[in-house]
Amino acid sequence: MDLRVRAHEFATICSAMSRRYDAAEIEPRWQEIWEREGLYRASDEPEDPRPRFYALDMFPYPSGDLHMGHAEAFSGGDAVARFRAMQGYNVLHPIGWDAFGLPAENAAIRRGVDPKEWTYANIEQQAASFRRMGMSFDWSRRLATCDPSYYRWTQWLFLQLFERGLAYRKQSPVNWCPKDQTVLANEQVIAGACERCGTAVERRDLTQWFFKITDYAQRLLDDMDDLVDWPERVVTMQRNWIGRSTGAEVEFQIEETGEPITVFTTRPDTLWGVTFFVFAVEHPAVRRLAELGGTWQDVEPLVARARATSLAHREEADAKEGVFLGVHAVNPVNGERVPCYAAPYVLTEYGTGAIMAVPAHDQRDFEFARTHDLPIRVVIRPEGGSAIDPGSLEGPLADEGVMVDSGPFDGARSPASIADVAAWLETQGLGRGAVAFRLRDWLISRQRYWGAPIPIVHCPSCGEVPVPDEDLPVVLPEDADFSLGGESPLARHPTWKHVPCPSCGGQAQRDTDTMDTFVDSSWYFFRYCSPGDPERAFEPEEVARWMPAGQYTGGVEHAILHLLYSRFFTKVLQDMGLVGFGEPFPRLMNQGQVIFGGASMSKSKGNIVEPMPLVERWGADSMRLIMLFAGPFEDDIDWKLIATDPNRRPGVHAWLGRVFAAVGDAVARGDVAEPDSLVRGRHRTIKGVTEDMERFRFNTAISKLQVLTNDIRASLDAGGGALASARALTQMLAPFAPYAAEELWRVELGGSASVHLSGWPDFDPDLVVAETVTMVVQIDGRVRDKLEVSPEIGEEAALAAARDSAGARRALDGRTVVREIVRAPRLVNFVTRSA
Ligand SMILES: [Zn+2]
Ligand SMILES: [Zn+2]
Repeated sequence: MDLRVRAHEFATICSAMSRRYDAAEIEPRWQEIWEREGLYRASDEPEDPRPRFYALDMFPYPSGDLHMGHAEAFSGGDAVARFRAMQGYNVLHPIGWDAFGLPAENAAIRRGVDPKEWTYANIEQQAASFRRMGMSFDWSRRLATCDPSYYRWTQWLFLQLFERGLAYRKQSPVNWCPKDQTVLANEQVIAGACERCGTAVERRDLTQWFFKITDYAQRLLDDMDDLVDWPERVVTMQRNWIGRSTGAEVEFQIEETGEPITVFTTRPDTLWGVTFFVFAVEHPAVRRLAELGGTWQDVEPLVARARATSLAHREEADAKEGVFLGVHAVNPVNGERVPCYAAPYVLTEYGTGAIMAVPAHDQRDFEFARTHDLPIRVVIRPEGGSAIDPGSLEGPLADEGVMVDSGPFDGARSPASIADVAAWLETQGLGRGAVAFRLRDWLISRQRYWGAPIPIVHCPSCGEVPVPDEDLPVVLPEDADFSLGGESPLARHPTWKHVPCPSCGGQAQRDTDTMDTFVDSSWYFFRYCSPGDPERAFEPEEVARWMPAGQYTGGVEHAILHLLYSRFFTKVLQDMGLVGFGEPFPRLMNQGQVIFGGASMSKSKGNIVEPMPLVERWGADSMRLIMLFAGPFEDDIDWKLIATDPNRRPGVHAWLGRVFAAVGDAVARGDVAEPDSLVRGRHRTIKGVTEDMERFRFNTAISKLQVLTNDIRASLDAGGGALASARALTQMLAPFAPYAAEELWRVELGGSASVHLSGWPDFDPDLVVAETVTMVVQIDGRVRDKLEVSPEIGEEAALAAARDSAGARRALDGRTVVREIVRAPRLVNFVTRSA
């Protein structure tokens, strides 16, 4: 009888005897034990010899139970944290909630629920689900941004910025619904209409708070060199958002009044092609100039209409609309007078709110000129080209070529001449080289209830007075009225805002705005380092020990604002001497989205799949494995392609069953030697999985573990041992399926402590190299044979093996070898002539 068959039968009997994989029984048991053992507590002990690793996940918004996106992001972040802990790091893996914001207030308005109760109930729900998922959080550091003990320090940070001149107030437009009589956030404006009632949204000017992030524009750009491992697209998005452009400031003069008007242009080399001048309709000079020019009756409706257009729509204004102001601007380079217009296509938010128009070389200027029958003058034309008739143009000309009709610059190459023109402007006293940023100051005022109140008191005699430190936090009133109406719930509260002035004691009023929730989330990662500190926002020594974070994991939807604001706050704290670095997260990883049938999951599409029912059905380990095995972590997961039927057993669950059987059988087989191929396969797997974990290639790591599982089974089936490989497999499984690995480690393999403290398996570099390589045997450059040889084969042995091969012997018959070329272990070539 064939021995192999008998061995196989034996293995089958063994696996029938070994324990079945039962997630429902295993997972809750270990969850309880881990909590009792305090397994994931980060050590603050300065003497702890282990290197530190801060595994930071973007904290969730508590709008309900965990969704699929959370399940994916945190499965990845947790795998990183567990891998580092097993490698011997002292890991900080905290959790908290980004808990202020609009959804809580909407729940209050729509369903009469208290925002605080709604928020904390959702936090409890998510916390329970995270525990069920087996996340390795240090729960002792848990925080929520809506806790007064947290927002006391958000308010303190606001006051630090205020004292440094980085928080200031100015008039700024908001979206206003005339029917609901309320301010709307940008996301509440759908196609220019109120999300609630569909009424067309208007704009209103309010005095609001800003953070002066523009002071840091250049540093935010420069310090991107310190971002050692960010996705390239996120770096590009940040760069574009900051939007640095170089050019020149040029001073035009209004002919009728003599007043100077400065414009910023990225193309001073086109100054000789200016044929008109345009103000943004909101420019403060517009009304005065139009009244002077006798055109205010024509300009006023345009101004009114532009002001009533929601902000988002203003950006899309077409370039045809505009009205002549009746005055002229004088071009400093040639003394020409050109007509001035007001037009919505020029925005106050960019540059100086006024532009010099060069229709021959700019698309919007071109459209405007054609509509209003204004002259077009070509000042850059292709090198060697002939004169161009502007009347024949169908659009603006490309901006590369030679400057013409440009005074002292005729013949200069453009755009190379930009810097020369800027320098010349400066020597002539007409302007100067300048840099402009697209980045605007950060509007942080919200006319909302559920946020951190701005800690300022407005006093009729003292002005803006900071709330003294000992009076922080300024807490939200519990009895606010959420019904819709003209003023925010804080402004409308009968008593809350009335306070004595902290400076003079006279009657004064609290600021009734709350802060943008992005303020709360711009510093939470510092708070985790010394949670619950009643004296300070954070302990600088603790921050110095843990930060910059070793890894930041989260969604690409935060690629711009959250990351930019957090970087800004860090730089301010650096300038205050509280932190010793300018970049909080040098390493960033963005997971993809979980979508369904090619579309994002949404209530309106009815395609939402909830993770927790699946966790209950198949276990947290299977859910984690599904998420991380689906594809590269940064790619989207289409749930429709993965598991449409919750009653069908997921493939990863079946694999865990095979792992249980294999490990159980390996233990039963005991101390039998592993075949050489399994030993080598194990070491190769350890090397490969370790490299994959370093690069977040979770899917390929898992697939390598599946191959190892098959190799273990093959060895057992052939009567060999597999114990060492079963141990390594269990350890490498731990970051992905922490419950199953723990059960195998402590119960089957007899580990005395947790697998998560067991260390990461090592590999032997000598065993990692492939067992054989293919050596090519050539005669006069033609391939005559291929041999499998050891990679360490020496020249002599290679030559002997080649000479002895069947293909070589046939081809050498009747020929004399004149030269031997040996490149062990890959190639042997015999150069011959006929005998
Ligand atoms: Zn409305
Ligand atoms: Zn006062």
